[in-house]
Amino acid sequence: MRLAVMGASGRMGQMLVQLIDAHERATLSAVVERAGHGWVGQDLGAAMGGATRGLDVTDDVAMALGCSDVIIDFTTPAVTVALAQAAAEAGVAHVIGTTGFVEADLAAIAQAGRTGRIVRAGNMSLGVNLLVTLTRQVAQALGADYDIEIVEAHHRHKVDAPSGTALMLGDAAAAGRGVQLVDVADRGRDGITGSRAPGDIGFHAIRGGDFIGEHDVIFAGEGERITLRHVASDRALFARGALKAALWLEGQGPGEYSMLDVLGL
Ligand code: NAD
Repeated sequence: MRLAVMGASGRMGQMLVQLIDAHERATLSAVVERAGHGWVGQDLGAAMGGATRGLDVTDDVAMALGCSDVIIDFTTPAVTVALAQAAAEAGVAHVIGTTGFVEADLAAIAQAGRTGRIVRAGNMSLGVNLLVTLTRQVAQALGADYDIEIVEAHHRHKVDAPSGTALMLGDAAAAGRGVQLVDVADRGRDGITGSRAPGDIGFHAIRGGDFIGEHDVIFAGEGERITLRHVASDRALFARGALKAALWLEGQGPGEYSMLDVLGL
């Protein structure tokens, strides 16, 4: 399978390059960076500080799509929305790890998924996707007597909050209660907020240092609390999930899929 990496110099992009190189069924077909980035036009191996390898970093998305079966994309919402459309038109499958989308972005991606093949997940790890399933079950079992709070921690460079994973967990908790997250989300309290509204799902974001990603889903009742927790300690976890999604897409028809589909959860 010929795989292209969008955002090749990024934290996730570099991890993906290493993983694809080590995979026997995958070949790195193209590596893309934004126009004007220092890596564009350079040999990828040299740009990564090693030996040259005969593959130049490009800013030409059409060229990258033209020589690839799948493009893996951990960039920014605007880049990903445009790429979803272009990949669908080119018949290239699209694995989306980017987070921070607003509703209009999600609608545009869903539209691309009518003809294109997409896996989109705010978190690509097996453990978090299992946590999503458990969160839904626990929310359903406990009911609204238990207040749900989602606390997440990420490194200082992260630009969006709450994290895509926190929102996935919030969606799962809301689904377990039979409500829409948008109607009950309480994001980042500050000031004289008044007492907690029954049924709200609270979000809190810690940013600092080199946290890779930690998520707690707290169910706080009278006299007891349950916490579901996931801690990521290696970024390769997400890259491995993205690669798994890319290989899985080979046999699928058009649609926008999640990691729950890929992992059969
Ligand atoms: P990063 O800033 O290190 O990397 C993003 C890269 O995209 C940069 O190298 C940037 O130059 C590049 N880029 C920007 N515009 C581009 C364009 N037009 N064409 C090509 N490349 C372009 O960020 P990161 O830590 O790698 O994270 C990227 C995204 O992935 C974030 O939204 C983050 O939240 C998300 N993420 C998701 C998961 C998951 O499991 N789904 C895991 C980690 C990170």
